[in-house]
Amino acid sequence: MNLIGTNIFSRKLAEHSLPLRHTRTEILQINVGKLCNLTCIHCHVNAGPKRKEIMVRETIDRVVDWLAKTDIPTVDLTGGAPEMIPDFKYLVERLKALAPPRHIIDRCNLTILLEPGFEDYAPFLAQHRIEIIASMPCYSPENVNAQRGEGVFDGSIKGLQLLNSLGYGIDPALPLHLVYNPNGAFLPGPQAELEAEYKHELQEHFGIVFNQLFTITNLPIARFASWLKNNGQLADYMALLNDAFNPATVNGLMCRNTINVSWRGEVFDCDFNQMLKMQWRDEDRALNLWDIDPAAVEHREIQTGEHCFGCTAGAGSSCGGALL
Ligand code: SF4
Ligand code: SF4
Repeated sequence: MNLIGTNIFSRKLAEHSLPLRHTRTEILQINVGKLCNLTCIHCHVNAGPKRKEIMVRETIDRVVDWLAKTDIPTVDLTGGAPEMIPDFKYLVERLKALAPPRHIIDRCNLTILLEPGFEDYAPFLAQHRIEIIASMPCYSPENVNAQRGEGVFDGSIKGLQLLNSLGYGIDPALPLHLVYNPNGAFLPGPQAELEAEYKHELQEHFGIVFNQLFTITNLPIARFASWLKNNGQLADYMALLNDAFNPATVNGLMCRNTINVSWRGEVFDCDFNQMLKMQWRDEDRALNLWDIDPAAVEHREIQTGEHCFGCTAGAGSSCGGALL
């Protein structure tokens, strides 16, 4: 199956003689569903409180059973708000029981840790030594509330203070990283400079400490694409991403060492491709994780589209922040 050469992004890669294929899998990213307590405007998942799509226990078991047969070292839990699926703790406990041990990341929106019924989740995460990567698009209330909703800034600050009180961001076994994404149709600024600003502001005003800041570019899909369209900025944003194409980012693209799986067990090259329904296929058959031979993933071609320019613009962007 040859997917390269079918879209403007793949043509750009071809111009630069940059094939895009999977390397050894380092990360299994599990998107457990679209349920979330927030409805942020930049959300590429269209997540929200009314979404019904969540990973059920039977699927959790199939995913973890598949993972158990591999040596993939890291599991990245995302959503929605991953903690909101009823079997979140079951999933974490099953993952923690695997041999060899796996490093587990929870992508947390912070505010969920304060919601009624979730008060014991922060201690649960600390007890299981789960790394937290938390969205915090700014250190100022105006920007955070504009992007994520009224009151979200205060909730995020309280969530961070709670995590610090449990040792997150302080104890090396409890890493706490923050994610910045632009509050509009522009690229993130330099990651190191923003990290220094965040550290200074959060420490000074709220006594908060954290490990690293990851800058992530907003990809023009789902709710953010609608927002761009409604504001007449979609074409300009696409042009901005395209013009900022940086070939040096391609080697580090997260789709190369990651497999992404949906709440139903379907497999994708990344979470963005998941939202665009670009499921892995074998001829006519759509593939689920349990159809995949882990040894056959290396060298597999990655499906691309125009949205991929979001990952290669400027310093590049991935779930772990800037690529350069
Ligand atoms: S960006 Fe994150 S916190 Fe915001 S709605 Fe989407 S999943 Fe929820
Ligand atoms: S959106 Fe980014 S991570 Fe996903 S396939 Fe495209 S380049 Fe790779």
